Amino acid sequence: MSVVSTPAIRPQKLFIGGEWRDGASGKTFESINPATGEVLTTIASAEVSDLDLAVGAARKAFDEGEGAWRKMNAADRGKLLWKIAGLIEANIDEFARLETLDNGKPIFESRHVDMPMVVEVFQYYAGWATKIHGETIPAKGNYFTYTLREPLGVVAAITPWNFPLLLASWKIAPALAAGNTIIHKPASLTTLTALKLAEIAQEAGVPPGVFNVVTGKGATVGDALVEHPGVDKIAFTGSTEVGREVMRKAAGTVKKVSLELGGKSPNIVFADADLDAAARGAYLGIFYGKGEVCAAGSRLLVEESVHDSLMEKLVARTKKLQPADPMDPKTRLGAVVSEGQLNTVSRYVESGKKEGAQLVAGGERTQVNGKGCFFQPTIFDRVRPQMTIAREEIFGPVLAALSFKNLEEGLAQANNTIYGLAAAVWTRDIKKAHRVARDLKAGTVWINTYNVYDPTMPFGGYKQSGFGRELGMQALDLYTQTKSVWVDLNE
Ligand code: NAD
Repeated sequence: MSVVSTPAIRPQKLFIGGEWRDGASGKTFESINPATGEVLTTIASAEVSDLDLAVGAARKAFDEGEGAWRKMNAADRGKLLWKIAGLIEANIDEFARLETLDNGKPIFESRHVDMPMVVEVFQYYAGWATKIHGETIPAKGNYFTYTLREPLGVVAAITPWNFPLLLASWKIAPALAAGNTIIHKPASLTTLTALKLAEIAQEAGVPPGVFNVVTGKGATVGDALVEHPGVDKIAFTGSTEVGREVMRKAAGTVKKVSLELGGKSPNIVFADADLDAAARGAYLGIFYGKGEVCAAGSRLLVEESVHDSLMEKLVARTKKLQPADPMDPKTRLGAVVSEGQLNTVSRYVESGKKEGAQLVAGGERTQVNGKGCFFQPTIFDRVRPQMTIAREEIFGPVLAALSFKNLEEGLAQANNTIYGLAAAVWTRDIKKAHRVARDLKAGTVWINTYNVYDPTMPFGGYKQSGFGRELGMQALDLYTQTKSVWVDLNE
């Protein structure tokens, strides 16, 4: 089966105040299918004046008049979110097709993992809309004292290209449920599903200005949103490097910020683990999503006594995996998102070779049907902790395998990173599993599994992987603030 992008995708505009508009400058940029190099369509490039319009529309929709979003019955907001979930589900094949064309991920993943979870996330937060409330509190004195839990206002959601719609839904759904209005800036490499969601929101009857999408370069549009005085909060997912910049720039207006950043997550295999399960977990931990996963198990730490047998199983499995046409439902490893990212991955692989790691699988860029940005699933063994590939996030299908002698050394190696997004431990010893889970400095720990997610389970980083928790009831804290009210009851 070949990659087909028909029906053609029409040129895309900005979605501001319930209307589709060209950018003020009339400039556009191209959306490219990384599996073929073909231009999918053109996307409007927003300028600062477009952002002013979007912020104005979002502010008006939040605050003004009886129809203001923050004043709408919570139950009605919940119904709208539920309706959006239903419409995404009704269009799920089209959403999946767009995501795969834009990002290069296998259609199997878009259709059966990303999009179903987007639907669940909207459904989950639809339920929360009526359950966000304040409390009565027994303060001393003759007062009636209570709190109100209120939305923040205009939220700018800035999202990356690896799970384009999924990571956007983690922000948009709780923010809307809590009564905020949204300006979404998707990564410029992957805008199509964000724009399709705007169409769906319009169809669902979301009032104009409640949900806006501005497309364009991060360094201009993203940056301007972060500095804009009319934006109340930045919900950012992306690299640690840009996250630091966002935090610095948001300081100018003391904007609320939440950051979901990079990772270099350890996958720790103890000698007493089920090695077949651990090999499968190590394989899925790094090759699922082409390794372009913030929580990818990109450092495999194996107890020395089982090192050889585990690596044998893992390498045998990996050698059967080949990059293939992402639109083929049988494909499990798609295209790297862009030429730029392919170059980054290649550079890291070269550094692994140069610094003396042992290449035991893959290691080369490749093509499918004579085109596209593909990289072989790659494993480096005998990696040492100080090597670049053991320390830096590669964000590609490249695994660094290290070994350790005992629990203390394994744990120390696992925590020897600036990141702390996720980690996994493989063992049959229940005490060891929980002890390690307790001592790992990571926002998510998987025991005898990897890469499982659910809308109910909070997700976020320790250390330089960021702060704030998305998903679960914790995400509502990111989009609400508390007001204390004192009523004098003295005669
Ligand atoms: P990126 O940091 O380059 O871009 C993320 C978003 O920020 C994009 O929309 C981009 O346009 C925008 N941006 C770029 N420069 C900006 C600026 N100066 N000001 C404001 N916005 C700006 O990241 P990416 O390459 O799209 O995604 C990959 C990174 O995202 C990886 O580091 C990965 O680990 C991280 N990530 C983290 C999570 C998580 O939940 N922790 C999830 C997915 C991806």
